[in-house]
Amino acid sequence: MITAKSKVCGLIANPIGHSLSPLLQNTISEKMGVDMTYVPFPVEENLKDAIAGAYALGIEGINITIPYKTEVVRYLTGLDEAASQVGAVNTLVRGLAGYRGYNTDLPGLKKAVKIAGIDLKDSDVILIGAGGAAKAVACLCASSGIKSLTILDRTPEKAGTILDTVAASFPDIRIKADMLSGWKKLKGKDYIVFQSTSVGMFPKTEGCIIDDDAFYGKCSAGIDLVYTPSETVFLKKMKAAGAKTLSGLHMLVYQGVLSWELWNLGTKVPEKIIGEVYETVRKELHRRESGNS
Ligand code: NAP
Repeated sequence: MITAKSKVCGLIANPIGHSLSPLLQNTISEKMGVDMTYVPFPVEENLKDAIAGAYALGIEGINITIPYKTEVVRYLTGLDEAASQVGAVNTLVRGLAGYRGYNTDLPGLKKAVKIAGIDLKDSDVILIGAGGAAKAVACLCASSGIKSLTILDRTPEKAGTILDTVAASFPDIRIKADMLSGWKKLKGKDYIVFQSTSVGMFPKTEGCIIDDDAFYGKCSAGIDLVYTPSETVFLKKMKAAGAKTLSGLHMLVYQGVLSWELWNLGTKVPEKIIGEVYETVRKELHRRESGNS
């Protein structure tokens, strides 16, 4: 129940109608017994006024997503390390003179990968995609002591831009960028693959970024950032090839948990509750995919 003392947080996005964040955040608050409510704020334009208005209204914390993760940086009082590294913000925390920006996508992905038992240290990684999410993956890989990074994208110049950024800070990592079919040139095995394109996402769930089964035979783990459906064709192919798999839904839940913890002064959400929240969100996704939205 919302009370006169309820802490108010929310989400700024456009479009916003299908976001799972209100369900995710309100479920955490309910299970943690915290008087916090989380509401959607559809912002079609004028992000600057929206941020100033939210601050004036006393909103404690805000998630930021498409299309504002980069633009919002200029309206904040400062950034945490992950947000500076990735160049994008997904969480605002109220301070004395304005909001400070955080990126919980990066540590959320890191936590999900760790819990799945996928060890990045000394590994050969393939990153497919070169959009906003790929930047967070590249930062995670580079700071996790990987041996090599191969970035594949249908637009090789975009893969090259990520390559340049990583190479500048991590000169010891062997790194290359190529077009999507570049995997055919790879001679190694046991690659850990991050799928960070939107291919395979609902409603076009039959899509798969690499169709050829020979690719999956070279891999020991596949992480798909797409979370709808929770098991994409990419993950099914990885599983069939005997690789470990991780759905983007785990990253989604962990980034949300980390935002919630920032707004609640570091109160830790126990793994048991995180598991329950994951199930609630997964069931809602399943309900929508079954045509009951
Ligand atoms: P983005 O910046 O728009 O980048 C999209 C990427 O997908 C680009 O690399 C793009 O290639 C590629 N792509 C799109 N359509 C393609 C196609 N038909 N064939 C080949 N490549 C295609 O999006 P983003 O923010 O990086 O998000 C990417 C995915 O990650 C989305 O599905 C998003 O929902 C998911 N995501 C999940 C989480 C999570 O918490 N699990 C967090 C963030 C993002 P070009 O470079 O050639 O355009």
